[in-house]
Amino acid sequence: MLDKVLIANRGEIALRILRACKELGIKTVAVHSVVDRDLKHVRLADEAVCIGPNPGKDSYLNIPALISAAEVTNAVGIHPGYGFLAENADFCEQVEKSGFKFIGPTADVIRLMGDKVSAIEAMKKAGVPTVPGSDGPLPEDEAQCLQIAQRIGFPVIIKAAAGGGGRGMRVVHSEGSLISSIHVTRSEAKAAFGSDVVYMEKFLQNPRHVEVQVLSDGKGHAIHLGDRDCSLQRRHQKVIEEAPAPGIDETARQEVFAACIKACQTINYRGAGTFEFLYEDGRYYFIEMNTRVQVEHPVSEMITGIDIIKEQLRIASGLPLSVTQEQIEFRGHAVECRINAEDPKTFMPSPGQVDQFHAPGGLGIRWDSHLYAGYKIPPFYDSMIGKLITHGNTRAEALEKMRIALDELVISGIKTNIPLQMELVRDAGFYQGGVNIHYLEKKLADSH
Ligand code: ADP
Repeated sequence: MLDKVLIANRGEIALRILRACKELGIKTVAVHSVVDRDLKHVRLADEAVCIGPNPGKDSYLNIPALISAAEVTNAVGIHPGYGFLAENADFCEQVEKSGFKFIGPTADVIRLMGDKVSAIEAMKKAGVPTVPGSDGPLPEDEAQCLQIAQRIGFPVIIKAAAGGGGRGMRVVHSEGSLISSIHVTRSEAKAAFGSDVVYMEKFLQNPRHVEVQVLSDGKGHAIHLGDRDCSLQRRHQKVIEEAPAPGIDETARQEVFAACIKACQTINYRGAGTFEFLYEDGRYYFIEMNTRVQVEHPVSEMITGIDIIKEQLRIASGLPLSVTQEQIEFRGHAVECRINAEDPKTFMPSPGQVDQFHAPGGLGIRWDSHLYAGYKIPPFYDSMIGKLITHGNTRAEALEKMRIALDELVISGIKTNIPLQMELVRDAGFYQGGVNIHYLEKKLADSH
């Protein structure tokens, strides 16, 4: 097992990683910006190093500072968490070149999956179902682009190969606006991601977002931890996630699990990963792979009893996975509500000092958060301040527990989205299960 791990992140995920390291007897190094010296995991870590000023680019994205911190503390592994440098192939490469273990896939695989065109190509080869599309970058030739769109059928979506975070995409409904849309997406992509490579896909009108969690040891052994539904989104940001995805045809589901495992073996995947799909009319369409742990990983942990971060640490230590596919028992249903420091109506971030804080509790209630009474939420980072997760024997029970837990949760002094979450877990449409990715936006638009 790795002897000492540097946690190259902050907030709830840094605390989550710290707890897993402690359970495995791994020593921990917290790194933090100036303002973050009061974070809970910084206090609980064996060692802490200040890596720079508050803006992310000067601290959590500062590769030389992170590597120096690993050097001075004699860390062996570096866990990137999610966000920041978690999917940065150059960071992974520099970590490994400097003699540390990157807790994640190899730089080559991050690069392969970071480019959506090459990712889709690799998935197709492995037999993962993809969205009908241009099969590669769009050519310069306008007539050819039009032919491709006609073959796929309108509406189509133009996407940047290097895109991410829900940016660099444009839906085109008819031939008339195709060429101008390609030009605009190209120049936006160039400005935002440094590459003007774009591709085309069929635009699915009412899909759900369904994703598959995998663990793979980089030596040919891969398992899945089932699926998650993350369709409740606002501006491509997930708001509530659940596992398993409700109401999915079992044969199609088992087929896609098998395809994901085969894909892990084909690309020799190492670590935890997520295959994201759009799901419409009983069919799956691969959109991208996330080569890191995800915010919503706890719902999969709750229904399988498997600690995904501990498995990541095992894989990085060169140990086999702790379970085989046959040993995994899927039990009950889990739901996660993301709790953000933001206005529940305008969604404006609401940093500041937390006065009172009371966490909910009880059987099947999990609260993953770095908050404490008196903690001052800085304005420099993401507004997510915690995740409330409930687990029940059935979906209805998990949702009932969530309603009670949300009522118990008290965070005062700042605005939070708790009122919105309370409303959503009582929403009749959501309660039925299987809403599509437009459901939340439509509901919000209707209520204004
Ligand atoms: P990003 O890496 O920026 O998150 P994705 O490829 O994962 O980009 O797409 C983000 C979101 O955009 C999806 O969750 C979905 O809502 C929408 N989207 C992407 N591709 C399509 C498509 N072919 N049809 C319909 N919606 C799409």
